[in-house]
Amino acid sequence: PAGTEVAGNVSELLSKSSYPSRVVLYAGRALLARFPRAVQNSSRKLLKKSGVIIKEEGHLLSIQDNCLRFDSGFEEQADFILLATGVHPSPFFAEAGLRTGPEGGLLVNSRLQCSEYPEIFGGGDCICFEDQPLDKVGVYAVRENPVLFHNLKAFLQEEALQDFDPGGDYLLIFNLGNGLGVLRKKWFQISGKLAFMIKDWIDRKFIKDFK
Ligand SMILES: Cc1cc2nc3c(=O)[nH]c(=O)nc-3n(C[C@H](O)[C@H](O)[C@H](O)COP(=O)(O)OP(=O)(O)OC[C@H]3O[C@@H](n4cnc5c(N)ncnc54)[C@H](O)[C@@H]3O)c2cc1C
Repeated sequence: PAGTEVAGNVSELLSKSSYPSRVVLYAGRALLARFPRAVQNSSRKLLKKSGVIIKEEGHLLSIQDNCLRFDSGFEEQADFILLATGVHPSPFFAEAGLRTGPEGGLLVNSRLQCSEYPEIFGGGDCICFEDQPLDKVGVYAVRENPVLFHNLKAFLQEEALQDFDPGGDYLLIFNLGNGLGVLRKKWFQISGKLAFMIKDWIDRKFIKDFK
């Protein structure tokens, strides 16, 4: 999804300059493969409308002298390359001998605490939540924050720790550039200007609360 958002927004920026440009999104084998079909279709439509060329030629193997090589044998030259190949926690945890999840994230229990070393707590993209796998989105990092803060203080003061409840399905909104977005929550989905406006309002309000 990061590549999709970046491609749409880079395309918008370049459309405002006088330089001739071509934005190509290499989307693995299928655009937004792990998202529902309706989200894929709407995103594809909006990106194409913004002039983004979508290629689903397989996974990138190497980049050499600005030549992209894919596992399908496809090759292409690019002037400027932005990588968005997914979030992977640092190998630091495994190297330090701590228990990790399948992607290398620090394994934490329901109290966001490392079971073997109870003085270690974690949250956000770098953890693997033992109870259920969580998407690497800021929504969870933000929801974890007050529990993490409470538990760090409680641990030091030898008080009761809180459990983290990930909550239900979260509101997903992609910002695809040019003031357009795709919004999904459970069965409900909209795309276009309104979806972007809702995201923009939520994000600005969130930032304003910190000022
Ligand atoms: C393009 C894009 C769009 C996104 N949009 C959304 C969205 O709309 N909604 C949403 O919920 N989520 C979104 N996400 C995901 C969201 O940004 C992450 O899930 C969230 O930022 C995770 O928070 P975090 O604190 O765990 O990690 P981060 O925000 O990545 O913070 C980690 C920090 O640690 C620092 N750091 C790293 N290594 C070290 C080190 N060795 N020493 C010291 N500091 C270090 C980094 O510089 C960074 O500042 C988006 C992600 C991307 C890439």
